[in-house]
Amino acid sequence: MTMIDTARLRAMFDEIAVAIEADKDRLCQLDGVIGDADHGIAMALGFGAVRDALAALDLSAIEPTALLNTAAKSFLNAVGASSGPLYATAFIRAAAAVKGKATLADTDAVAMLQAMAQGIRDRGKAEIGEKTMVDAWQPAAEAAAAAHATGKTLAESLDAALEAAEQGAEGTKDMIAAKGRSSRLGERSLGHVDPGAASAVTVIGAMRKGLA
Ligand code: ADP
Ligand code: MG
Ligand code: MG
Repeated sequence: MTMIDTARLRAMFDEIAVAIEADKDRLCQLDGVIGDADHGIAMALGFGAVRDALAALDLSAIEPTALLNTAAKSFLNAVGASSGPLYATAFIRAAAAVKGKATLADTDAVAMLQAMAQGIRDRGKAEIGEKTMVDAWQPAAEAAAAAHATGKTLAESLDAALEAAEQGAEGTKDMIAAKGRSSRLGERSLGHVDPGAASAVTVIGAMRKGLA
């Protein structure tokens, strides 16, 4: 069983920042097709701000909840695009899910992922099939929970989450956007991957790397 402390959580956010920065141009290109071409910039700004804010924290003095709330606040302040409040809500919910814990066990990490997915759903009011990041986040959280429930390790559970996110993101190609900016395109959004679903795969992959 992995014990996740604040240092590990900060390392996880560093992994996300690096992965998103490396993926920035592709995400902007995807958003350029069905949106306004800023998704990579927004995500890189957000996770860059999170990395800087977490670097300034005294990790020995705080619990995971405080770290996650700092991540939420810095992401929200840095990002003007729709992804700002969506990920900020995800991290606020993650913080609430692990409140009072000094370190996180596998179960807590899985609960954190589920809370993130639920937070994004609640904030965006998007359901599965509406061609948003929910189409990657929700199946990922469900796959992690299912794997964990059958006794899989955290690494295995997060592998399952990543695979489900990849499939979910790929599946957005066959969807007509019903939420967010790209919904204005109607059927013209068909055939293209949703940028927020694509970045969710990158985020979840980096979380998997950073956590287990
Ligand atoms: P903006 O559209 O404001 O420029 P971004 O480019 O950062 O914002 O993010 C676009 C992504 O946000 C979309 O690809 C989609 O995945 C996600 N998104 C937009 N609206 C919603 C919503 N209501 N619920 C969930 N996700 C959404
Ligand atoms: Mg955009
Ligand atoms: Mg924008």
